[in-house]
Amino acid sequence: MKEETIIVGGGLAGLTCAVKLHEAGRPFRLLESSDGPGGRVRTDLVDGFRLDRGFQVYLDSYRNAGQLLDLDALDLRPFLPGALVWKEGKLREILDVFRHPFSIPRTALQPVGTIKDKWLVAQLRFHILSLSAAEIWELPNVTTETYLREFGFSPNMIDDFFRSFYGGIFLENELKTSARMFAFTFQHFTNGCATLPAGGMQAIPNQLASRLPAESLFYKTDVESIREGVVSTGAGELRAEQIVIATDGSTAAKWFPERVAPEWHSTSCFQFASDRPPVNQPIVVLKGDRDSPINNLCVPSLVAPSYAPPGKHLISVSVSDGLSDESIVRRELEHWFGGEVKDWVCLRHELIRKALPINPPGHLVGPPRNGNIFFCGDHTTSASIEGAVLSGLRVADRILRR
Ligand SMILES: Cc1cc2nc3c(=O)[nH]c(=O)nc-3n(C[C@H](O)[C@H](O)[C@H](O)COP(=O)(O)OP(=O)(O)OC[C@H]3O[C@@H](n4cnc5c(N)ncnc54)[C@H](O)[C@@H]3O)c2cc1C
Repeated sequence: MKEETIIVGGGLAGLTCAVKLHEAGRPFRLLESSDGPGGRVRTDLVDGFRLDRGFQVYLDSYRNAGQLLDLDALDLRPFLPGALVWKEGKLREILDVFRHPFSIPRTALQPVGTIKDKWLVAQLRFHILSLSAAEIWELPNVTTETYLREFGFSPNMIDDFFRSFYGGIFLENELKTSARMFAFTFQHFTNGCATLPAGGMQAIPNQLASRLPAESLFYKTDVESIREGVVSTGAGELRAEQIVIATDGSTAAKWFPERVAPEWHSTSCFQFASDRPPVNQPIVVLKGDRDSPINNLCVPSLVAPSYAPPGKHLISVSVSDGLSDESIVRRELEHWFGGEVKDWVCLRHELIRKALPINPPGHLVGPPRNGNIFFCGDHTTSASIEGAVLSGLRVADRILRR
């Protein structure tokens, strides 16, 4: 039998495309190699804790994702806008003074950047907020570090704040990511809040999958190869009018060598259980010291209590690329928070090798379409939830307009 559309990949891009085709009454099959929806956005239940696969957040200012999702049903819980920065033996609170004006004196006096730097943050905010979505992608095609230096920020401000905060988002501390991606992220952080769904990040793909007919979703179905109109799986060949490749960029490039395979940023994350949280606010903690093995830390159960069983807390610690030695991480955590760290129980350590496709200035991936084969996924737009959703919307739109 010939299907109208086969979608390969059940991450956010593939699910978004499926939802739009289904809403338009167009039949499809979605083939996903893993055991459930979500791709890189998954959560596991371990001893009553919700463990997201790597620390990630949903920004409630995402426009396309916000229109697609039922945000009320996700019950998004916000982080405080700002960060605690570990510097000179103390946690220094840097809040977004536009949303927390009472914090101006304290934030201004923190030894993170100069007074001029703090004034420049306001300038940067006005500049980036004045840009439309299209104008952001037309900014000078330079690295984030070059952009910040040319904007006038001091090396200390770049190291102590931007490198820690955006290094945690881009999963690279050199700030080689395109300034366009920086502006995209900065605009979303400024316009909204970083949040966690009460049910864990998995609630996002689950909500999309719940809108689709169960008989169209095929998990544990590994696609082996693709040619025009034919998808081969271990169970045989399937034919389709059109095929949507919604896998990661590396898999797409393996099947279609004319496409550029992305390189990847990886990340390592330790998740600990504790009776007491090390901080008492729903805020991200950053390193202000370049040599620290810890990139960032947060207590998801202070943001959304359902991340931990009653009376317990979940602590998520993202560390330098590839670091798997728990004793090194514990030593640094004890330096920050003292002996109480000895009582923390490690629930999981994971290394995510293919976390974010590298997005240096001028990256190209290949055309969005090859005959009746369409490509979506974050590697075609921006390495983010919003980018994955936008790419799925675009492909669905192309198919529906044919
Ligand atoms: C640790 C981490 C932190 C992040 N932090 C944030 C954040 O804070 N905010 C944010 O907006 N974004 C963040 N992101 C990025 C965001 O999660 C991704 O950009 C987005 O989820 C990508 O979705 P996708 O559908 O394009 O790709 P994927 O999620 O990779 O989906 C591709 C799917 O294709 C399937 N597949 C691959 N090969 C085959 C095959 N042969 N047959 C069948 N199926 C196949 C895969 O199993 C997968 O389910 C983070 C990502 C990670 C990993």
